[in-house]
Amino acid sequence: MVSQINKLEQKGFSGEIITPEDAKYDEARSVWNAMIDRRPVLIARCSNTEDVISAVKFASAKDLPISIRAGGHNVAGHAVCDDGVMIDLSNMRNVEMDVERRMATVEGGALWRDVDAASQAHGLATPGGLISDTGVAGLTLSGGIGWLRAKHGLSIDNLVAADVVTADGRLLHANDDENAGLLWALKGGGGNFGVVVRFVFELHPIGPEVMFAAPIYALEDGPGPIRAWRDFLTNHSDCVGSLCEFSTAGGEDFPEEYWGKRVYTLACIYNGDAAEGEKLLQPLRELETMVTDFSGRMNYCEVQQLFDTLMPVGDYRCYWKARYLTDLSDDMIDLAMRNAALAPSDNSISSLWNFGGKTADVAADATAFGDRSMGWMYSLDGVWSDSKYDEVNIAWSRDGWASAEHFGHHGRVYLNFPGHGEDNEALTRTSFGENYQRLVEIKTKYDPENRFRFNQNIKPAA
Ligand SMILES: Cc1cc2nc3c(=O)[nH]c(=O)nc-3n(C[C@H](O)[C@H](O)[C@H](O)COP(=O)(O)OP(=O)(O)OC[C@H]3O[C@@H](n4cnc5c(N)ncnc54)[C@H](O)[C@@H]3O)c2cc1C
Repeated sequence: MVSQINKLEQKGFSGEIITPEDAKYDEARSVWNAMIDRRPVLIARCSNTEDVISAVKFASAKDLPISIRAGGHNVAGHAVCDDGVMIDLSNMRNVEMDVERRMATVEGGALWRDVDAASQAHGLATPGGLISDTGVAGLTLSGGIGWLRAKHGLSIDNLVAADVVTADGRLLHANDDENAGLLWALKGGGGNFGVVVRFVFELHPIGPEVMFAAPIYALEDGPGPIRAWRDFLTNHSDCVGSLCEFSTAGGEDFPEEYWGKRVYTLACIYNGDAAEGEKLLQPLRELETMVTDFSGRMNYCEVQQLFDTLMPVGDYRCYWKARYLTDLSDDMIDLAMRNAALAPSDNSISSLWNFGGKTADVAADATAFGDRSMGWMYSLDGVWSDSKYDEVNIAWSRDGWASAEHFGHHGRVYLNFPGHGEDNEALTRTSFGENYQRLVEIKTKYDPENRFRFNQNIKPAA
């Protein structure tokens, strides 16, 4: 190992090299899902692009596979590998603002909270996810579904350029004029093509004050509010990003009589003026007797962090699955309610997400992500803490996911909720649809030896 480190240092590596002998090794190889326990031969914690190039060249020379860690949130644990080199970008989180051109240049290891803080300082934002400590890279490269999707689309729809270190150690610029095929592939094709060291995103004027509605109803009160919410969203999918989130009430934010009971939140953000949004979303707060109501006008950064405490880093064991739905029928709503009632862990959540609006405006072949005609998504996030309940919790997510197959949209899934990756091969092909063959060609061009294989893997042609 010492000789390996020497070789990497000779290649000009200025970051931190962490090996199994180091005291830091266990902390450095841990990711968000506490179930993941993999042992890379070496962790290269990079400080800059040159470090990434050195680490990639080192892995190639040793014929070792590479995993890439940004925010470490991938539930399948794709950020960390056994017996390979883990390229850790967690020290590369810089965000540079070009306020005049409304562009942000974001380093490959940044978290959404870094981007939100830098851009909101100028009243701007780009669509991220719902949790602020998720990595920009992993979330974006497989799509990126967040609060602003109604008016501004997915994260990839706002990605205008990227700098990528490919398997041969070259630094490539990908934009509409240079390596345009690579940029297309990064818009949904995941971490298959190299290490993205910089993303450039388009920004939009947002808030800072926005209207967020979050009325909470009890599962025992039936599906009425969810049906009304669905009908409401069908008419407002161009300005309201939303999800109906099933969870378990608990803690001082809830009236005591509901503690331990199943509830659902009709969480909505209005993509526009806060006062206008308050009026528009008001009917969703009058559908039944509410358990409680977290609605209010608040700063966009606050909304981006509201769900953080539901999902603390490193404390929980997780298994998440999701599938797209063609539409949201009454039967599908009933099924989601039954599955929510069956969750073995009070920490688990499940959600119905709306699409439409700007997300649906993008042609299937315009980005690697593929078809945008799904109306909704159903996700089941199994979250628990004791390993003796692994089996029952994984079964809940998988069974719930399978039970909705009949309502699915051409068998397509959101590849950022991949379970533990066991279905990746079949689901990757189905989900990319007609874009799959072009992705294989681009993968073959940039990573013919499949050096980057810890992801929703697209195998290069033989
Ligand atoms: C608490 C939580 C909340 C979430 N909320 C949302 C949400 O609201 N919306 C949504 O769309 N998704 C959401 N997700 C799913 C999320 O998009 C994926 O887990 C995603 O992989 C996380 O990205 P990361 O950078 O944190 O992951 P990591 O585990 O660090 O990386 C995942 C994979 O991405 C690739 N990758 C990472 N960095 C790079 C890079 N710089 N260059 C090339 N490839 C790279 C690699 O293949 C890597 O294995 C959530 C996940 C969690 C755990």
